[in-house]
Amino acid sequence: MEQGAQGALLLYSSTLSDSHSNFGNASSIHAAGRKGKAAIEDARELIAAAFGIEEPEDICFTASATESINTALKGFFFQQQKLGLRAHFITTEVEHEATLDTLRFLAELGAAVAIMPVNSQGELDLGILEGLLKEVKGEPTLVSMMAANNETGVIFPWAEAAAIAKKYGALFHLDAVQAPGKLPGFTLAGAPVDLASFSAHKIGGAKGVGALLIRRGVKLIPLLHGGAHERSRRAGTMNVAGIAAFGAAAAALAKKDLNETDRLRKLLEELVVAGVPGAQIQGSKAKRLVNTSNFLFADVRGESLLMGLDLEGYALSSGSACNSGTILPSHVLLAMGFDKLAAQSALRVSLGSGNTEEEIRGFVLVLMRVVERIRAQPQRASLRTGIPAH
Ligand code: PLP
Repeated sequence: MEQGAQGALLLYSSTLSDSHSNFGNASSIHAAGRKGKAAIEDARELIAAAFGIEEPEDICFTASATESINTALKGFFFQQQKLGLRAHFITTEVEHEATLDTLRFLAELGAAVAIMPVNSQGELDLGILEGLLKEVKGEPTLVSMMAANNETGVIFPWAEAAAIAKKYGALFHLDAVQAPGKLPGFTLAGAPVDLASFSAHKIGGAKGVGALLIRRGVKLIPLLHGGAHERSRRAGTMNVAGIAAFGAAAAALAKKDLNETDRLRKLLEELVVAGVPGAQIQGSKAKRLVNTSNFLFADVRGESLLMGLDLEGYALSSGSACNSGTILPSHVLLAMGFDKLAAQSALRVSLGSGNTEEEIRGFVLVLMRVVERIRAQPQRASLRTGIPAH
């Protein structure tokens, strides 16, 4: 485990075990409550500094990035509805389900939703965004996009997209979950981003904590009612220990050596391409995060690969979600033009800053063995994975 992450989780467990004397309910006025409140405010400042957020108070803590995204999108929709207006949304085909499912739901309630395609490398064409914004000029519009894709690591030109949204009077929400600690130089400082979602566990904090940047002046109807917590933006007793650990994890990001992770990922990709015939890397021509690789191997099913690697002690994931033990085709790979079978067969490898060259070399040898073993098994033609030429 990474050092920063370890520190954050140690803090998390010590505050949990010492919750009575150390951190009380942050809304209470007794001493323990005040201590809890102070821990939250410290975390808010550390996170603001790490992510380039000028006003720490603009950060609203949530229980996950999924909740942050729901708050941003539904909050905007209901705010417009309250004003008697129809909300318009522009997003991309490859967003996380937290965005796509929420927008499907809001479309059923009457929202206008436009979805931008990506090319075979998973890249966006900002000309399409500008065209869509021209069409809805004058309507209340929120553009929502990710900083980088969680399956392929492909980075979107989010700051340019935010500037275009601003030019047309639209609000801009950034799903920034994959950016901190993986996208070199990531900062919101000076970027015209109105809303941004973060997840603590993606930077080494505990699971079940998120944050939403809501710039002052941006009006959202809260998702949760029932108290004045978080300046009435999100009701509910706060996860003091989890938030304190989120702050510690954010502060530790500065110590991460992203160049070394980038070097190891490139080495991993070189070794895999050289050692496994028919290996392909998705989005290889696009700008990508330092730690994420998405592989496909001709004629190798994702399920067999994951099971084979699991038997060798590697708990990896396919690019896409699993449902009752079956791998669903990745909507990201489908959007990039892959067929259903290929979209079920990707192998996603995410490196942490604690990984070593020795581990990478050891993993590639195992991968070569597992792929060879799968290919040696008799397969029915219908089970073959066809990889389109990209
Ligand atoms: N957005 C992206 C890009 C993600 O990768 C994830 C989680 O993997 C989420 C949103 C949801 O985050 P959380 O697990 O905090 O709900």
